[in-house]
Amino acid sequence: MIPSRDELLKKAVSKPRWDIIIIGGGATGLGTALDAASRGHTTLLLEARDFGKGTSSKSTKLIHGGVRYLRQGNVKMVMKALRERGRLLKNAPHIVHPLRFVVPCTKWWHKPWYGLGLKLYDLLARHLGIGHTHILNREETLAYLPGINSEGLRGGVAYWDGQFDDTRLLISIAQTAVQNGAVVLNYVEVADLIKEKGTVTGVRAKDMESGLEYAFESKTVINATGIGTDFIRTMDNAQAVPMMQAAQGIHLVVDTSFLSTDTAIMVPDTDDGRVIFGVPWHGKVIIGTTDTPREHISREPVPLDEEVDYLLSHVARYLSKPLGRKDVLSVFAGLRPLVRANKAETKSISRDHTLVVSTSGLVTITGGKWTTYRQMAEDAVNRAEKTAGLLKRPCITRTLPLMDPEAEKDMDSSENNLIHPNLPYFEEHIRRAVTSEWARSVEDVLSRRTRCLFLDAKAAIEAAPKVAFFVGHELGWDEARQKTEVQAFNKVAQIYLVQH
Ligand SMILES: Cc1cc2nc3c(=O)[nH]c(=O)nc-3n(C[C@H](O)[C@H](O)[C@H](O)COP(=O)(O)OP(=O)(O)OC[C@H]3O[C@@H](n4cnc5c(N)ncnc54)[C@H](O)[C@@H]3O)c2cc1C
Repeated sequence: MIPSRDELLKKAVSKPRWDIIIIGGGATGLGTALDAASRGHTTLLLEARDFGKGTSSKSTKLIHGGVRYLRQGNVKMVMKALRERGRLLKNAPHIVHPLRFVVPCTKWWHKPWYGLGLKLYDLLARHLGIGHTHILNREETLAYLPGINSEGLRGGVAYWDGQFDDTRLLISIAQTAVQNGAVVLNYVEVADLIKEKGTVTGVRAKDMESGLEYAFESKTVINATGIGTDFIRTMDNAQAVPMMQAAQGIHLVVDTSFLSTDTAIMVPDTDDGRVIFGVPWHGKVIIGTTDTPREHISREPVPLDEEVDYLLSHVARYLSKPLGRKDVLSVFAGLRPLVRANKAETKSISRDHTLVVSTSGLVTITGGKWTTYRQMAEDAVNRAEKTAGLLKRPCITRTLPLMDPEAEKDMDSSENNLIHPNLPYFEEHIRRAVTSEWARSVEDVLSRRTRCLFLDAKAAIEAAPKVAFFVGHELGWDEARQKTEVQAFNKVAQIYLVQH
């Protein structure tokens, strides 16, 4: 039985002092909570909004070493990520699975060049490899990718990587952390750090639902706030030199009539040297991504028109069916938390993670990728143990199975229980999102417990009143509250619609 948010809040308030407090409920923070709790440290995690509301719900949904980073010569980082990919496939097989990718080849040198590179990618995974790279002739390529443009096609290279649903994995990590004794709370924002004689000894936080303020004490505090890293560092030291840089990436979601449903396409050579993926996901295809430096950090990043046009124009070259703005079912934008480098372009900034400890003992873990969250967590907790003089305990997450979220089981999947004819979710998904996955709003349910808003924004908007009714039933909302919730959801959902 998963404790409710109220039960977890009571537990949080009743404990006078924690070993570790973690700020931020994305992949890095929740991974760190699981690592710390499973070692036996008393652990409290505070997330200002919903789990995954930041970057961790906006990924390309790949658990991968990163073929692109291999091309940049970052072999060590690719190897680390491939090792984590292998572990995740074993520890969370209910969410992470192998996926075939095909690189279409149109020039004579493409096959040997990409074939060799991807063979090396396989080799770097060593015993944790998931499938062999092989060269395809023209007919085989068209059989794997029936929707692609056959003009000038010479063949392809097939390789394997991992795929997942980012927020489903996040909830699985959160539930496993709670199962191991952690307290994780969404909608509790850290407003300040508590210090004693220059050392961080806890946080002041506000429950965004009740407005109540709390002081939570701990032996150490870990800052895992992604793109918000510098805000917390400034609470620690007003003069802290900013270390983060945001790079926006967007994805378009389209119908599977544009591309096959069981093989992804990888386009390694775009006009500006970025990689573009077309990835099958929940019966749709995700196309992405972009890499646009952003000065302004927004909680609701908005896709730029030029980003949409860039993806549409590039992908159109590879598809046989014309693709335009009217075909986009949803568009979502996320901000990569990159650690600043003296380079102008964000696409060349390393995706490796960074761990720093301030003179007051605040541990900051940032950068990295979804794929490497476990390693980031292990490193952060090792450092926190050292900094705070905690008992050094071994990390057990390398082989720790992650919980299979209850929502996937015993579902009444008769068609009349669907929340919308165009969405693959049932009424029971909504109820369980609230009762065992801490969803608190219509947006939590439609964006991050189910993926309706990401799959089809218009259908999600149409389903919102029904969803508000079910969520309201569990959380005791009256009709007026249901209406307000739907309005709040619709405001966010507008960002996911592409204007024709
Ligand atoms: C377009 C795009 C595509 C990507 N694709 C992939 C991919 O396919 N595979 C991969 O491995 N990686 C991918 N990544 C990278 C990956 O998504 C990120 O590295 C990862 O999600 C970062 O997680 P995080 O926990 O550090 O940050 P976040 O997920 O942003 O979490 C930080 C959290 O801290 C909270 N917070 C901030 N301030 C406070 C406060 N004061 N109090 C409490 N909480 C606070 C925020 O609300 C937020 O939820 C992609 C990134 C982008 C942008």
